[in-house]
Amino acid sequence: MKRGPSIEISLDNIRHNYEYARGLSNNRPLIAVVKADAYGHGAVRVATLLEGLGVFCLGVAFSSEAIQLREAGITVPIMVFFDTPDIEEIVRYALIPVISEAGYARTLSETALRNNMQVRAHVKVDTGMGRFGLVSDIDLERIEALLTLKGIKVTGFMSHFSEADLVDMNFANIQLDRFVALMARLTALSGGVLRHIANSAATMYLPQAHLDAIRPGLMLYGYDPLKQDNSALRPAMTVKCRILDIRRLPAGRSVGYGRTFVTRRETLVGVIGIGYADGFPRGLSNKGHVIVNGHLAPIIGRVCMDVSMADLTDAISSAANGEPAPRECVLLGSQGNTVLSASHIASAAGTISYEILTCLGRTPEKTFTYQTADR
Ligand SMILES: *Cc1c(COP(=O)(O)O)cnc(C)c1O
Repeated sequence: MKRGPSIEISLDNIRHNYEYARGLSNNRPLIAVVKADAYGHGAVRVATLLEGLGVFCLGVAFSSEAIQLREAGITVPIMVFFDTPDIEEIVRYALIPVISEAGYARTLSETALRNNMQVRAHVKVDTGMGRFGLVSDIDLERIEALLTLKGIKVTGFMSHFSEADLVDMNFANIQLDRFVALMARLTALSGGVLRHIANSAATMYLPQAHLDAIRPGLMLYGYDPLKQDNSALRPAMTVKCRILDIRRLPAGRSVGYGRTFVTRRETLVGVIGIGYADGFPRGLSNKGHVIVNGHLAPIIGRVCMDVSMADLTDAISSAANGEPAPRECVLLGSQGNTVLSASHIASAAGTISYEILTCLGRTPEKTFTYQTADR
């Protein structure tokens, strides 16, 4: 029997979130970010769903991710954010490269011309992220120059906010201004160029940043980068695992490595089949919870490599008499009215929901649910 975590992905919820994002942006073209295995949700299945819903384009970090999608039969345009695919890959897999520097653009253009063709590409502008891209205020000439390269047809311009959670709206607005100002100054720009900068936070909270297309990731998976709870979004990932054993320990006994927890009462200790090797953060030691019988049960002691311990005393004592011992717990998701969301887990573990989803989502075995009949 399987020891470790099992993951369920609700494609219905992703569909809901996708449609919500579309609505917020007045149905602008949507570039759905499915990098890092769709934030742990399974890129192939998520991409297949989005393709079926008519998504405009998909966005990944590296061309290897795009190739995986193509080999799984995905045919919608795929933009590659951080990689510089070579022309053979671009043509063979119909990728949209993102140009972040002039040298790559020249090589790409020359190779394209040698093959009597023109490559469509988007240009990345650095307006304050300081990571990739031509720098908005100083690289104007370089940008103008690459717009004249004959082997490249620039079909879009993009930039990325450094405040993914918009805590500093002022800086986001500065970045937006820099981006829009640059666009206005480009003389070699022809019509039909798509400008996009809106991540999830900007899609939800900075409508002036929607421009010609939105580029959300996190919100598609049901999380709001600003708020812990946003009932307009529906989290798509549920993670469960088996309870391997339930032990009755008297008061005054230590639990786990380092003896960081000592029982204060007779305690039912559940040994659960997930550890930090499964992406369950060690930072949840003595801080996190699991759901058992619809109750939040605290993690006690340190999270181990493959297993963790939780205090199930209250969860079990509140169950109806004669109810069999619980075999399973929920680590992420809900049971009854009790919810354990990635943003709550993240704040307990001192990280962000993005990291919780991508770490827990590494478990390759996933089940997907999709009830198309519900509408
Ligand atoms: C990850 C990423 C996004 C999506 O960001 P979210 O905060 O998840 O919406 C958009 N654009 C680029 C370039 C990214 O790398």
